[in-house]
Amino acid sequence: MGAEGPGGIGRSPVCPCCGGRGFEDSFEALGHRFEACRGCGYQRMADPPSPEERDGFYKESRRHGEEAWAEHGKNLERFAAILRSFEEWIPPGRFLDLGCSLGTSLVAARDRGWDPVGVELSGPVAAFGRKEWGLEILETPLPECGFETSSFDGVLVHHTLEHLGDPLGILREIARVLRPGGILYLAVPNHASLKAWILGPWFGYGVTVEHLHHFSPSSLRSLVRRAGFHVLRVLTRSYREDPRMVLDLCGRLGWEDRLAKWCGFPPGEFDQEAYVRFITDRPLPRFLCTRAWPARLAGWLGLGEDLHLLARLVPRSSGGGERWKGHPASSTGSLPEDPPAKDHGMERREGPHVLR
Ligand SMILES: [Zn+2]
Repeated sequence: MGAEGPGGIGRSPVCPCCGGRGFEDSFEALGHRFEACRGCGYQRMADPPSPEERDGFYKESRRHGEEAWAEHGKNLERFAAILRSFEEWIPPGRFLDLGCSLGTSLVAARDRGWDPVGVELSGPVAAFGRKEWGLEILETPLPECGFETSSFDGVLVHHTLEHLGDPLGILREIARVLRPGGILYLAVPNHASLKAWILGPWFGYGVTVEHLHHFSPSSLRSLVRRAGFHVLRVLTRSYREDPRMVLDLCGRLGWEDRLAKWCGFPPGEFDQEAYVRFITDRPLPRFLCTRAWPARLAGWLGLGEDLHLLARLVPRSSGGGERWKGHPASSTGSLPEDPPAKDHGMERREGPHVLR
């Protein structure tokens, strides 16, 4: 996360996804108001923190680096699977990960013959990747990185786009630095997922204080097309293990005080350790968090909580994307199994915000 340029989230009345005008109030959560486009259902935070506040937060943040370090080994394999999706379309070349955290994806890319560069605004996190693995990681917002036009073959934006102020502007900048025919891989929470539908504003995987944009498969497709890409594949993933399930369900049912009582912390506060003990030690909460969720069914229905999109940059001369394919292999393949889920911990729903 943490990779945008100057400028804030759209006060613009124009929807970045469909270009339509007109937002209506959607819901309130975590001390923020959210609004939805009347045209396409894309949602955004209506009262986001200022760009300066957000930049300050990411510059000092170490937390996502700690999470990424805990998952480094597992994520190496998962990013390798994502890179295989790139390699179905293009040979290894110059690779950019926007919001690369420690640089696990860059290590995986280098191992597979790519020449990787990362952008990560958190100084301590970026420094770790440079020192530990000798990676090239810039702490500069993408538009200020000075990358040359058409200088990358592949760009990964993994659980980052939803954090940025101007997603269409960033995708257009990516379209500039990608070579024609280059590949873009996006992953974001799916706000048209079964969990989002059941949990509503308590969909903790997607509704957090850091996520300024809520995409569905169709609104993400529209956004990517507007930026000049041809969408190759869209799919969703769901996860059976979800430590937030009891927390989110209790929120949905209005049982925050009951949960506090069961876990033994004061109402209105949240003690993560006590909650983890509760879902680990008791059979029913443990079952709900590890076994109950019909992940395979949700994924099969295209209603998984993780949304992945693969797209190719349309050559600038071809004049409009959907007919242009230029595909060297079959387009019926699938995206990798079990992609990284660095947003998947319950830490996203931070302390005092948890129990509203
Ligand atoms: Zn729209």
